[in-house]
Amino acid sequence: MSDGLAGKRVVVIGTGIGGSGVSALLAREGAKVLVLERNSFPGGKAASFEREGFVYDTGVHWLSRGGKGPLGEIADLVGAEGSYRSLEPAMQFTAGGRTAILHQEMDDPEALERLFEEIGVLPENRPGARALFEDLARERSPRELEELDEVSFSDYCSRFVDDEQLNRLLDGFIGMYMCISRKAASAAEFILCFSSQVKERSLCYPVGGMRAVPTAYLKALESMGGEVRYSTPVERIVVESGKARGVEAGGFIPADLVISNTGLKETVALAGRHNFPDNYLAWVDSLRLSFGAVSVKYALDAEVVKPHLFCYFPDFRDPELVERQAAIFVPVPSAADPSLAPPGCQLVLAGSLAPPGLEDREQAAAVCEEILNRIENTMRDLFPDIEDHVIWKIRTDTSYIARISGRRTGEVIGLAQNRHQVGKNRPSHVTPVEGLYLVGADAGGRGVGTEMAADSALNLWRMLLHS
Ligand SMILES: Cc1cc2nc3c(=O)[nH]c(=O)nc-3n(C[C@H](O)[C@H](O)[C@H](O)COP(=O)(O)OP(=O)(O)OC[C@H]3O[C@@H](n4cnc5c(N)ncnc54)[C@H](O)[C@@H]3O)c2cc1C
Repeated sequence: MSDGLAGKRVVVIGTGIGGSGVSALLAREGAKVLVLERNSFPGGKAASFEREGFVYDTGVHWLSRGGKGPLGEIADLVGAEGSYRSLEPAMQFTAGGRTAILHQEMDDPEALERLFEEIGVLPENRPGARALFEDLARERSPRELEELDEVSFSDYCSRFVDDEQLNRLLDGFIGMYMCISRKAASAAEFILCFSSQVKERSLCYPVGGMRAVPTAYLKALESMGGEVRYSTPVERIVVESGKARGVEAGGFIPADLVISNTGLKETVALAGRHNFPDNYLAWVDSLRLSFGAVSVKYALDAEVVKPHLFCYFPDFRDPELVERQAAIFVPVPSAADPSLAPPGCQLVLAGSLAPPGLEDREQAAAVCEEILNRIENTMRDLFPDIEDHVIWKIRTDTSYIARISGRRTGEVIGLAQNRHQVGKNRPSHVTPVEGLYLVGADAGGRGVGTEMAADSALNLWRMLLHS
């Protein structure tokens, strides 16, 4: 237990992975933690809901390391329960009319050769493709990584090879990990995501659905004397003389530390722009978001969809397919945890990227509608009898993500992990307002979505512990 944190009054705004994680970690140090959540349920983008015996997620989630990464590290530190299941083969990838099966051992030389063959990497490009994957998986010093922070992933790849089909495969990985383009993505960030996943051999899904993770952290928090209040939106972060004094949430709640899990841009709005220096505001305004996503969630009365995790790109050689289909990412959570669907039934989530939220809401809704129609076309083309087995079906767009995460925009991850916004250029936990800190995917972490939010919670906890 740290004397510095013991007895400190900490208000955490939000129960996303970052907020729930850090609140349990600080309660472990003896801080008096109060978590305020605007929704009536925990988890933010990592929430899950029940309907007619099915448990489905806000998002379209699959995790790269699960218990072996920062999500597991928090659970171990705070004594939270939870387990993860992996599938074998790990996933299927289809692009340009070719399909490859990916295994958990993605660095195994024989499996890689098979992958290049199946996906159609041209024979003359295979030595370069091999060299790329070897380089992706090798150990790197922090300094080597820092040098790659500001290099775009496509520039980094072109040092080794430029193969059309391999590029599509890499686009699939970038889409899954960071939800931005290969050109925008930071090479170092991709390398971190890919190499840690390959090392742990653990593409996986949490037993109990995505909500199991934040719920377990919050349960640990409560067991250590912390409190969570749901349906309690924070209206304002109260700042006096450059210091955070507490929050307004149906009345003033004083605090020694205020930790915001609402995202950087929203935090600045909640604390009042006049409390920040102009250069900080200009920088915050300039930060870019990851793509948003739309999804179709299928509750099916039979096992219709197989494989149980796949990424599909329409065949670019067929203009009709390109016109009617979408690039989709499809996990089947009930394959990893059968308790998420009634016996014999299947829960299938099909997602596709979309702009995070255009200024014009009607235009944003129309763009999402079009992509959702394409997702359904694609699923019907791949599984012609799917509609005969639908018990219910939900279509969600970027405004749904915005609503659930309490933001104005519906980005999947948070701030984009582009080459200007990672490593030393990622927003830090510390803000110009004394006593106001950030936690979650937007600040101070690295890795894939949920794991970046968990990494952020761990880093903030370490920082406060040693300050
Ligand atoms: C469709 C989709 C697919 C995804 N797929 C994956 C995946 O496969 N793998 C992966 O690792 N990640 C994935 N992610 C990303 C991942 O879910 C997020 O990056 C991560 O969960 C963000 O966590 P966070 O801690 O930043 O908080 P958030 O989830 O953004 O939570 C913020 C919380 O703060 C609360 N809040 C906001 N404002 C207030 C206020 N004023 N008062 C009180 N409470 C407030 C919100 O209600 C919310 O609970 C996906 C996300 C989506 C949407």
